[in-house]
Amino acid sequence: MIGPLEIAVVGCGVAGQAAAILLADAGHRVTLFERFAEPRPLGAGLLLQPTGLAVLGALGLADAAAARGARVVGLETETDRGRPVLDLRYADLHAGAFGLGIRRPDLFDLLYGRLKRSRARLVTGAEITAIERQELVDESGCRHGPFELIVVADGANSRLRGQLLPQARAPLYRWGCLWTTVPDDQGLGDGGRLRQRVRGTRLMMGLLPVAPGQLTMYWSLPVEALAAKRAIDLDAFRRQATALWPEASSVIERAARSELSRATYRHVALRRWNVGAVLLIGDAGHGTSPQLGQGANLGLMDAYVIARCLAESDNLLMALIAYEHRRAATLNYYRRASHLLTPFFQSRLAPLGWLRDAFMGPAGRIPALRTMMTSTLAGTRRGWLSSTPLDAEGRYRLDM
Ligand SMILES: Cc1cc2nc3c(=O)[nH]c(=O)nc-3n(C[C@H](O)[C@H](O)[C@H](O)COP(=O)(O)OP(=O)(O)OC[C@H]3O[C@@H](n4cnc5c(N)ncnc54)[C@H](O)[C@@H]3O)c2cc1C
Repeated sequence: MIGPLEIAVVGCGVAGQAAAILLADAGHRVTLFERFAEPRPLGAGLLLQPTGLAVLGALGLADAAAARGARVVGLETETDRGRPVLDLRYADLHAGAFGLGIRRPDLFDLLYGRLKRSRARLVTGAEITAIERQELVDESGCRHGPFELIVVADGANSRLRGQLLPQARAPLYRWGCLWTTVPDDQGLGDGGRLRQRVRGTRLMMGLLPVAPGQLTMYWSLPVEALAAKRAIDLDAFRRQATALWPEASSVIERAARSELSRATYRHVALRRWNVGAVLLIGDAGHGTSPQLGQGANLGLMDAYVIARCLAESDNLLMALIAYEHRRAATLNYYRRASHLLTPFFQSRLAPLGWLRDAFMGPAGRIPALRTMMTSTLAGTRRGWLSSTPLDAEGRYRLDM
């Protein structure tokens, strides 16, 4: 095991907080830098998979998360004409398997509370603009460090990524979404499923149970319509969403009256995740579209794996090589699969919608493809050909 290292983590999101806690727990001297004066969650709710839940377990937060969130048994997507497109259930992998919908503020509170109880030091109001000779430079020109290891977790719009890897590609997807959390007064989340309704590739709405009686609603829109300076056309949202999903009219009205957040996403395609002793984790290293519901789960797993590689290696370089070895197949798979799937749900390519509606439902009834789709949802894939089986209780085991 490597002796205690001086480590900097940049970004107090899901990935950065988990990394800072796990590395500090392992005895390293950790400083976490966040640009906001008061770290805060952005967005509405998300789906934690067995992988992410296992990391929350390692952080001692699984029970608290379960108490706040909503158990999710699977994913169901259908067209506005009632044609099934996807119908995936965790129980097909194991009777005890499940996902957990949770509001971002709830997940943030849990991680942030745990961070404050850890030995990691938090420096807020520090926007890191450069990394020079293992030192961090913030916006005011102040230097921090040097650090033996720097973990960059500054999100999909990372400003450090381009400096570290000038060739890195991270194009913006042409579609994003509006999202918010609203009371579920119509019982649409009662079955514990993430439900999606689609028409072609231009209209998509999703409803995810995130707490008892609460749903996160997302509504797909082209990025132009989400531009910060442009007012959201709420009448168009009400009209189109209600035509797509009439049974959800009350939820749609509540969403239209709530504070809708705008989300865009990037396809972050890196060949490797470290440059010397600087490692990119979370969306900074592998941002995807949220089509497969994996980003936060992947970030949690990154944090766990780097802490473990450091614990199991004799030197830092070997630990970073081991990290790449353990993460590459999974990260490349989810990046490629998300990229491949996204235009079938969010694009202007109408024929992809026809293909999706014609073939995805029947494909999901072929046992081998169904298992592949369900394990993809559960976050357990290690590539196109293999996945990690769940344990005897239907949980993801971090030591496998
Ligand atoms: C609509 C939508 C739905 C999603 N649904 C799911 C889902 O169901 N399941 C799932 O697993 N994932 C989902 N995701 C993806 C998930 O939200 C992200 O993958 C995850 O939040 C990324 O976490 P992160 O810690 O890497 O980055 P972020 O959460 O972006 O955190 C980055 C942090 O770094 C800070 N920062 C940025 N720049 C600097 C700087 N220069 N210096 C200092 N600090 C800085 C930021 O302020 C922020 O606190 C969804 C995403 C979207 C948009």
